[in-house]
Amino acid sequence: MAEQTVQREKDLYIDGRWVPGGGADLEVENPATEEVTGVITQASPADVEAAVAAAGAAFAEWSATPVAERAAALRRVRAVIAERADVFADIIHREQGSPPKLARGLHVDTPLGVIDATVEALERFPFSGRIGNSEIRREPVGVVAAITPWNLPLHQVIVKVVPALAAGATVVLKPAGLTPLAAFELARAFDSAGLPAGVFNLVPGSGRVVGDQLTRHEGVDQVSFTGSTPVGRRIAGVAAETLTRVTLELGGKSASVVLADTSDELLAKAVKITVANCFLNGGQTCTALSRLVVPKGRLGQVEELAAAAAAKYEPGSRLGPLISAEQRKEVESFLAPGAGGRDAVAVTGPVALPDRGYFVAPTVVSRVDPDSRLAQEEVFGPVLSILTADSDDDAVAIANNSIYGLGGAVWSTDDDAALAVAGRLRTGQVDVNGAAFNPAAPFGGYKQSGTGREIGEYGIADVCEIKAVQR
Ligand code: NAD
Repeated sequence: MAEQTVQREKDLYIDGRWVPGGGADLEVENPATEEVTGVITQASPADVEAAVAAAGAAFAEWSATPVAERAAALRRVRAVIAERADVFADIIHREQGSPPKLARGLHVDTPLGVIDATVEALERFPFSGRIGNSEIRREPVGVVAAITPWNLPLHQVIVKVVPALAAGATVVLKPAGLTPLAAFELARAFDSAGLPAGVFNLVPGSGRVVGDQLTRHEGVDQVSFTGSTPVGRRIAGVAAETLTRVTLELGGKSASVVLADTSDELLAKAVKITVANCFLNGGQTCTALSRLVVPKGRLGQVEELAAAAAAKYEPGSRLGPLISAEQRKEVESFLAPGAGGRDAVAVTGPVALPDRGYFVAPTVVSRVDPDSRLAQEEVFGPVLSILTADSDDDAVAIANNSIYGLGGAVWSTDDDAALAVAGRLRTGQVDVNGAAFNPAAPFGGYKQSGTGREIGEYGIADVCEIKAVQR
């Protein structure tokens, strides 16, 4: 491991200028080394006021800027991020702990794809339509407060900020306290791309202070939140007091469902891809396929395949750390006896962990009770549960036995059977037979996984009000 860089960020980006932050300093820890890798100054209440006021003042001009100019501005931002992709990847490697290859591919290239897809959607977005004697207009909502989590420090910001700016809204961003450094680099990208002052503002700080102030603020027209379901519930409650619109992207407990007719060859692919998806980013993704539901008669085969696939995720090289000591403790609580029910058994063994960093062993637990804590709660770590089904109908019922409804996967040698099951899963996304992530597709959840959609055309629509003008 190279000598740690300590990134110092004293200034906040408000109204197109870098201004000294008025809040307390906050250290950012590298979860792979447990060393300090950054120190930022947080926003004070006055900084938050200034940021919301700047976003409010910039709205009239930005919302009236022609679509082609907004698209061009976002393309300039994209170009700066692409040019500085290695800098972003290094920051994310340090503040989030992702291995370098993942820090570049997942954390930087994916959001670049989201920007491309969103700008393309902007250029053909139906801002105006007609119903009888009415002209139907979609108008940007105003000031959007974006509150983001630590698991994908750039991507989670891009999926909110870019559709909002594309629509003509203005933004105040509060990134996660554990990983605020990438957001500073992003603010520099907005600055050098020459976005008008006040269109994008950065106010880092804690959720309870800065996040809460933004949620309560009457100058904020929409709160766009990604994070845990408990905090999302709290934000929805606070925003209800002012009837502020909210978009909530929350937790998940996504199921990968293998149908009875699946061939041995496809089964092997299903297990390999499910393990890879579940362990991606140290298991810290909201759409992690953390439940693998398989026909009872195939269990032995699946256990062997899953154990072999999991063995390839060596902590410290392919598998990054968890974000914090607290998160590691939480994940370990799911590995305690009884968490997966009476019959649950780990099919992976202990592995060597690096001396430092918040690593846990990649773990596959089989024969998990569908009603157990392990099958019901989001783990947010590299822990895959295998559950068995008596029939395809039973598999669908097990998959839908969740308070969450974010992602899912279906596997079948018969495409039509897989598509029919995709229609029965109560989730915002479903991948059939290992289909790839689509950076233009709407992203969001059913049930307690949230409300609203992000990315591309649907992300733009989500930050628009609708007006009918009669003539
Ligand atoms: P978190 O809920 O603890 O925090 C998310 C953000 O909310 C942070 O910026 C935090 O500072 C802020 N916050 C905390 N309390 C607040 C309050 N009272 N008022 C306003 N803001 C507040 O989540 P996390 O631990 O950072 O992230 C992990 C969670 O995020 C997981 O549950 C995961 O599933 C979820 N997640 C969801 C998606 C999705 O798109 N559905 C994507 C990634 C992560």
